[in-house]
Amino acid sequence: MPVDHILRSLGYKFLSSLGEGSFSTVKLYSSQRHRCNVAIKIIDREKAPRDFVRKFMPRELSILGQVKHDHIVNMHEIIEMPGRRVGIVMEAAAKDLYQKIIEVNRIPEVQSKTLFSQIVSAVNYLHQTDIVHRDLKCENILLTAQEQVKITDFGFARRCQDPSELSRAFCGTVGYCPPEVMMRRPYDPKKYDIWSLGVTLFCMLTGQLPFDETSYFRLLGLQQKPLVYPDDVAVGEPCRDFIGTLLQVDPSKRSTIQEVAEHQWLKN
Ligand code: ATP
Repeated sequence: MPVDHILRSLGYKFLSSLGEGSFSTVKLYSSQRHRCNVAIKIIDREKAPRDFVRKFMPRELSILGQVKHDHIVNMHEIIEMPGRRVGIVMEAAAKDLYQKIIEVNRIPEVQSKTLFSQIVSAVNYLHQTDIVHRDLKCENILLTAQEQVKITDFGFARRCQDPSELSRAFCGTVGYCPPEVMMRRPYDPKKYDIWSLGVTLFCMLTGQLPFDETSYFRLLGLQQKPLVYPDDVAVGEPCRDFIGTLLQVDPSKRSTIQEVAEHQWLKN
């Protein structure tokens, strides 16, 4: 039975497609019960790898059910459907940060600071509750019509109560992965998120990733290299210094989320 028919029988009326993931589609529906439009991510277990179905998807569903924060997407319910499909019903956003950057090319520093402080408040909440995201990137940072941040896609998230426990799973998205993960070393997953935050802020301000393939692979020598900004980009020194604390090649020198949240650039 087609997914839209099943969802219609549950009171969800299809409106439009919102996006596609590796093993999922995300669509917009109106909902009488929730009295608003909702986004439903439909994951097809038949198409997804076994590792994803057994390990990552149960974590995603459990963590999404647990977290509650103004800047994290709110999950309404989970619907099990015939054909080993599952629907995650969540609040709908207008676009993602990647789409916004494509639209405007670069987000001015003042506006980037407002959006980035919302992202940091969500990641601070996650790390305080011992949850790491491990796939923070512009595509997973949604924006509502009022330009409120909603972090989504907890497909690689996990709990990490013990700060000395390192992660080993290679996961996330290449341009946003810190060098230690690219080198397949055991890594501190919270420091992973901090690096991804640095890449995200750099993208917001410049409209491009901080490292192309060549410069990125030079980093794998674990040498700190100066970041190169496009000549015509208006990013002040305090902001560049701040990004430098996030994109520290040595994870032990990289800021913690508390240090990020208390940084002068964000507070001014
Ligand atoms: P990938 O495997 O590529 O990481 P995924 O399968 O985990 O993706 P999501 O990242 O959750 O899927 O969603 C894919 C896209 O759908 C997002 O980049 C975004 O554009 C859109 N999307 C997801 N959730 C919502 C939402 N709640 N409101 C509006 N759009 C959304």
